[in-house]
Amino acid sequence: MTAPTLPGLEPAPTPVAPRPGSRAARMALPRSIDVLKDIAIEYGVCVRPLAMRRTDLDTGLTEVIDLPCGATREDKCPPCAKKNRRLRQAQIREGWHRDDEPLPGPEPATEAQKSLILFRAHLEFSRDEAVRAAQWDQVTDLDEAIREVEEAITAEGLRGRVGPPHASDDEDQDDEPGPRRKRSTKRRQDAPELPRRKVERRTVGKTYTAPDGSTYQPSMWLTLTLDSYGPVRPDGTPINPARYDYRRAAWDAVHFPRLLDRFWQNLRRCEGWNVQYAGCVEPQRRLAPHAHFAIRGTIPRNVLRTVAAATYHQVWWPSVDVQRYTLDRLPIWDEQAATWVDPDTREPLTTWTVALDTIDDDPDAEPVHVVRFGAQVDARGVMPGTEDAERTIRYVTKYITKNTGDCHKATTDRQRKHLDRLWQQLQVTPCTDRCANWLLYGVQPKKAHAKLKPGRCKGKVHQRDTLGIGGRRILISRDWSGKTLADHKHDARAWVRALLGVTTDGMQLVDDQGDTTERVRHAWELARPDDPDVGPMTHRLMRSISERARWRSELLAAKDRAAQESADLSATQHSAQHDGEETQ
Ligand SMILES: [Zn+2]
Ligand SMILES: [Zn+2]
Repeated sequence: MTAPTLPGLEPAPTPVAPRPGSRAARMALPRSIDVLKDIAIEYGVCVRPLAMRRTDLDTGLTEVIDLPCGATREDKCPPCAKKNRRLRQAQIREGWHRDDEPLPGPEPATEAQKSLILFRAHLEFSRDEAVRAAQWDQVTDLDEAIREVEEAITAEGLRGRVGPPHASDDEDQDDEPGPRRKRSTKRRQDAPELPRRKVERRTVGKTYTAPDGSTYQPSMWLTLTLDSYGPVRPDGTPINPARYDYRRAAWDAVHFPRLLDRFWQNLRRCEGWNVQYAGCVEPQRRLAPHAHFAIRGTIPRNVLRTVAAATYHQVWWPSVDVQRYTLDRLPIWDEQAATWVDPDTREPLTTWTVALDTIDDDPDAEPVHVVRFGAQVDARGVMPGTEDAERTIRYVTKYITKNTGDCHKATTDRQRKHLDRLWQQLQVTPCTDRCANWLLYGVQPKKAHAKLKPGRCKGKVHQRDTLGIGGRRILISRDWSGKTLADHKHDARAWVRALLGVTTDGMQLVDDQGDTTERVRHAWELARPDDPDVGPMTHRLMRSISERARWRSELLAAKDRAAQESADLSATQHSAQHDGEETQ
């Protein structure tokens, strides 16, 4: 039975448009502040700029200058993330097909540098003698001297450390009293069955000569994927969730970076030259990581396949077969004994060192986990300067502005459950040898201390939206373009300036000699958003947008002029050539 409608309260006919001036009509209008932000994004203006106050040290005048925030992820600042992606693309483009070595070898050492290293060697010898004679006060003095000499070595302009620090300042030793544990031979990585050659310094691929004399230097594009954990549907979810190996998926994801390192190491040894790569790790739809790489030079596809198949990484950690504790019954810290103990028996848990010694002493011990690549290895050649090369660069950098968890958002229930099951595993998978989650398995992690939260390690890989991909996602080998991201930024600016005909604009770039006059003329400091000279964010955004819009049209005009000039030039050349032919 329906309630009788009261007179005068019949439902009004649905209005086609809200009454002008009504709240609904007002709410339908876009908010001007949102439009401002949209335009800022459209014009590539940073939406959360940092205000920097620049003081001219000669005149005392101050000026507030907005610097872009430099975010790399779109959810923070789309324009900055896009700019960062463009720089990464430039970096990949420049390194990919180069035909010369990116960096000349280091300069020979000076006499002063050599004598410092010699002095350091003498100290090393004396220290060793003092240790043998148990003259500990001398050792301390010598350590002090070594520190000073090493500082001098750095100051003299030598790269890196001459040797690892001594055990007394190496934290790893004070793990446990007693004799230092011998390095295990068991827990070394086995060498894969691959040909081994001496690795040359060469980083540049082979150049080929066509019959017509033109040369070309192809490069490659490679995708490395992990193994299958069970068949999946097109949406990435397992066909049979109960049979999908989530544990292996979690361990593989956590150790994937090590596997990639081993791959490059093996490939270089197998090929005999210093193969260079630039790439990116990102999740597949099934939420397992995979990696795309641009490789400089070409490598036979079957070599890539063989190396991928032979590459593995063994994890020599204590067993995680039995989870002895759960979040409602956890080990506790014994203040007096300074160790983690069982909550009921008060027995100390196995220490990290003892756990590793047990593995060393067991002749049948096996690694707790072995990571390998899956059978799918995609590789193909790419020619420099082609649309294919550009498309590939865009593909490699497609997801770098996104957080791992946002690459494939779970939209269905099935996908959310798949993510949850993976996350459950990631929560109990130890991330490192110091992970607090070791306590769940009755093992004290390396350097255990009172502040550990058993089962609640803060490590990135345990968080739901990292999918176990905890480390860097952009992997670029050292001799790729011979430039850092900051160098590429400098290049991009120099290009724009050259096109606009701007030489200096008061913010002169520091040249090789170190342009000191410009650098000491100004003092910089971070201005606070509520400082009176900073002004509202919206005003600053509007100024930046206007500036960018004018700058953009100038740039377009300059490009047009340049195109027109080169067209004129080639027309003249063409007609000159034509004239030449006629007079022949
Ligand atoms: Zn920004
Ligand atoms: Zn952890």
